[in-house]
Amino acid sequence: MDKNYYDVLIVGCGVAGLCCALNLPEDMQALILTKAAAFDESDSFLAQGGICMLRGEEDFNAYFEDTLRAGHYENDETAVRLMIESSPAMIAELVQDGVEFARDDKGNFRFTREGGHSKPRILFHDDVTGKEITSKLLALARTKRNIIFRENAELIDIICRKGRDGECFGGIVRDTVSGELEDIYADFTLLATGGVGGLYEHSTNFRHLTGDALAIALENGVEVEHLNYVQIHPTTFYSKKDGRRFLISESVRGEGAVLLGKDGKRFCNELLPRDIVTGEIRAQMKRDGTDHVMLDMRPVGEKTLKEHFPTIYAHCLEEGYDALKEPIPVVPAQHYFMGGIKVDTEGRTSMRRLFAAGETACNGVHGKNRLASNSLLESLIWAKRAASEMTRRQGEHIAQKPVPDHTKYRDYRALKEQYARIIREETEREEYCD
Ligand SMILES: Cc1cc2nc3c(=O)[nH]c(=O)nc-3n(C[C@H](O)[C@H](O)[C@H](O)COP(=O)(O)OP(=O)(O)OC[C@H]3O[C@@H](n4cnc5c(N)ncnc54)[C@H](O)[C@@H]3O)c2cc1C
Repeated sequence: MDKNYYDVLIVGCGVAGLCCALNLPEDMQALILTKAAAFDESDSFLAQGGICMLRGEEDFNAYFEDTLRAGHYENDETAVRLMIESSPAMIAELVQDGVEFARDDKGNFRFTREGGHSKPRILFHDDVTGKEITSKLLALARTKRNIIFRENAELIDIICRKGRDGECFGGIVRDTVSGELEDIYADFTLLATGGVGGLYEHSTNFRHLTGDALAIALENGVEVEHLNYVQIHPTTFYSKKDGRRFLISESVRGEGAVLLGKDGKRFCNELLPRDIVTGEIRAQMKRDGTDHVMLDMRPVGEKTLKEHFPTIYAHCLEEGYDALKEPIPVVPAQHYFMGGIKVDTEGRTSMRRLFAAGETACNGVHGKNRLASNSLLESLIWAKRAASEMTRRQGEHIAQKPVPDHTKYRDYRALKEQYARIIREETEREEYCD
């Protein structure tokens, strides 16, 4: 096999990229890229709260309704149904892969609750659920001979034929250390590059997540959807430091933490969907003339705070706040991206051979606003479905390897500025807004 030709090119090494790779048969060779210097630098590692699961048929309607209500009823109902129905099998698969979730004394799953959920249906591993899931998938993928990893490898464009009979043949990859470009060909390409937070001043996302695949899709005429559906998380630790904002998980509010204004009084129902709580906090900040509000975690109690939220508790201590003794300052920040590259139930984009999954894709599950802890689940399920579709079409080889002209990529900085401009324009478009 050519060294620059693979069955599958997977761009992104978060839960979506890894889950797709792991669900390919061992005779399909996959190259998985990350533009970061390390494979653990993905938002998937940051997920704190947990991952949803349908606990039983009796919860289906409530889970379905909660997801739709959070999404302002703009969700694709088929996609929501698919996600909920697939959740027990996906969780069973994770457990089989070695992922551990909190359990009670009898060994049964323990469930927690977050904003927008009418019932506890979220599985968790302390407050590092994303790390638990992603590190286990990464370790497993590392043992597979058909999965090749490459870090410091940034997709800067796809190799494709545009237009109505558009077709993707792979991608142009830049070595972030040497700056060299390489054409990589593949029968199928999966875009799994995560969110757009790196383009925002205040975001919980890794700074290198800048919506690259979205810009590339737009430039190549691949259909996108709802690019201005950007979720702001109501509670991140208030700080004036550079870098990403530290998330104070919604589960903390689910377990009893309350929001307080300058006068020390509660001003909203903390368990409403994220966009509503964010609106309430912003209104309170305006009334108070402050740039943050306070979150009192004392009602959560010492045992739960230290056992369920050890990372959050430790972070607050590092920042000089003992959450067991005093409220902490919090502020809303960009957190999640509901829009993205439009995909169908199999993760197919509008371009032949090109797939997308995870936060960079839009399959309609989240509608206008994501329900807490639905994203890891949705990313995993669609990545797996994309892998199944690729497997079904195994052997459908590309008939040509077009050689792209690299001149337009010579000025890397200008290219990145152009991509950032494209995404900013799209995410701020008025016509999509309320
Ligand atoms: C602080 C925080 C807490 C969260 N908590 C939860 C939670 O409790 N429950 C939940 O369900 N969801 C949660 N989320 C959301 C969830 O973590 C993400 O939506 C999900 O992990 C996205 O996975 P992904 O695989 O699509 O992207 P990511 O995990 O972000 O991975 C993206 C990958 O793409 C790579 N990449 C990007 N651009 C390029 C490029 N041009 N070339 C090559 N590689 C590239 C990156 O390096 C990275 O490897 C949270 C998110 C954050 C930030």
